[in-house]
Amino acid sequence: MNIASTNPYTGEIVRTFDAQTAAQVEVRLAKADKVFRDWRKRSFAERAALLHKAADVLDQRKEELSKLMTLEMGKLHKAGIGEVEKCASACRYYADHAQEHLADRSIATDAARSLVRHQPLGPVLAVMPWNFPFWQVFRFAAPALMAGNVGLLKHASNVPQTALAIESIFLQAGLPDGCFQTLLIESKRVAQIIGDPRVKAGTLTGSEGAGRSLAQAAGEHLKKVVLELGGSDPFVVMPSADLEKAVDTAVKARVQNAGQSCIAAKRFIVHERIAERFEEAFVAKMAALRVGDPADDQTELGPVASKQGLDDVDDQVKRSLSQGAKALTGGHKLDRRGFFYAPTVLALTPGDVTAWREEIFGPVATLVRARDLDHAIELANDTPFGLGSAAFTRDEQEQERLCNELDAGQVFINGMVKSDPRLPFGGVKSSGYGRELSGEGIREFTNAKTLWIA
Ligand code: NAP
Repeated sequence: MNIASTNPYTGEIVRTFDAQTAAQVEVRLAKADKVFRDWRKRSFAERAALLHKAADVLDQRKEELSKLMTLEMGKLHKAGIGEVEKCASACRYYADHAQEHLADRSIATDAARSLVRHQPLGPVLAVMPWNFPFWQVFRFAAPALMAGNVGLLKHASNVPQTALAIESIFLQAGLPDGCFQTLLIESKRVAQIIGDPRVKAGTLTGSEGAGRSLAQAAGEHLKKVVLELGGSDPFVVMPSADLEKAVDTAVKARVQNAGQSCIAAKRFIVHERIAERFEEAFVAKMAALRVGDPADDQTELGPVASKQGLDDVDDQVKRSLSQGAKALTGGHKLDRRGFFYAPTVLALTPGDVTAWREEIFGPVATLVRARDLDHAIELANDTPFGLGSAAFTRDEQEQERLCNELDAGQVFINGMVKSDPRLPFGGVKSSGYGRELSGEGIREFTNAKTLWIA
């Protein structure tokens, strides 16, 4: 059984689901196609009223929805509440701002009137990951729906109850049945669905391999995709930084969501003049994290989401150690039931070491030293990924150089990388292409139609 909820705190399978049959999927595709014809004609005001209701439903159900995330993927309860609130804020943001982001744009030409008008594309397939199982979906759904598209969700196979809950939220809010549907299917059926003529575009948040696979299938049918893939974000600390703030932020940025965030800081690049002080404080704080039951609000680090995820992290750390990395704390699974990995700091010399080259999706930080800013930037960019990046420095010239020279979709100075509905989000290099959120995000799934009227 591939589609199942397994509790990462206990390791027990809680509930299993049968995948939808071809006939059941066909009913959903037909419904999406039909509903789109009506939904696209609704005014922004009508759609906005329904998105505001969806936000209210999220707020009302946040306790239940957070518990579902804790059950299915081990999210800390408090973080789950925050995630649901963030989804509500994205619904409200797009309800209030979609019209302005998509407003006609007049351009003076030889015509009496010429302009660009953004129109929806149709049903969009969203292939989503389990790590922020509500947020990833809503940051696609809120703008897509407000633009007049409809959504088909293929969620990760370990969060089926969350996937069904998301569909129920939109129905409860009063959106027409078919505007947002969940497909309970395995990933091998994604290629066929993106090829269906009724599906007009796709978006995938997940690993590089899954992204390549969707891009390939979509390419065959010339369909647009947005890809939000993995990351191995650098976190640069320079001598002028507020060291205490940098250390506190470093710990949070690495272990949020048990280390399973695409924009988690993963490679810590510290100027050699302050490296010893940073290292001592950082290792002490990582080692002191309270590990335990994700439902307990005192817990700071819960389990990783799956047995496979735990084994992958363990294998990557073991390979790194055999390649010369040194564990300053942790470096092993925890000897208890559930999928727990010890908070870990690996010191290493950059090069062909797994922890430097690959994304580690668990509470494992990689620590290296830089000689100067040039070296720090070179190290930061020495990765196949280019999602987020953070740097701590109070020197304005250094800030400017980091903003210009870090090869990433986003640079955060003196703060941790986070997504915000008002700001575009996405990556370069192997972290994918396209943008979500803000005006850039909502325009991805529109036809920017040129109108020329003599
Ligand atoms: P994953 O294995 O790639 O799964 C993500 C989604 O893709 C799931 O729905 C999965 O379905 C599906 N999938 C897997 N292989 C596929 C294929 N060959 N064709 C079509 N769909 C496929 O990733 P994950 O382990 O769940 O998530 C972790 C990864 O996501 C990390 O690399 C992380 O950095 C990245 N991520 C990126 C962002 C971002 O915004 N850039 C945000 C969050 C996570 P099944 O579950 O059924 O296999």
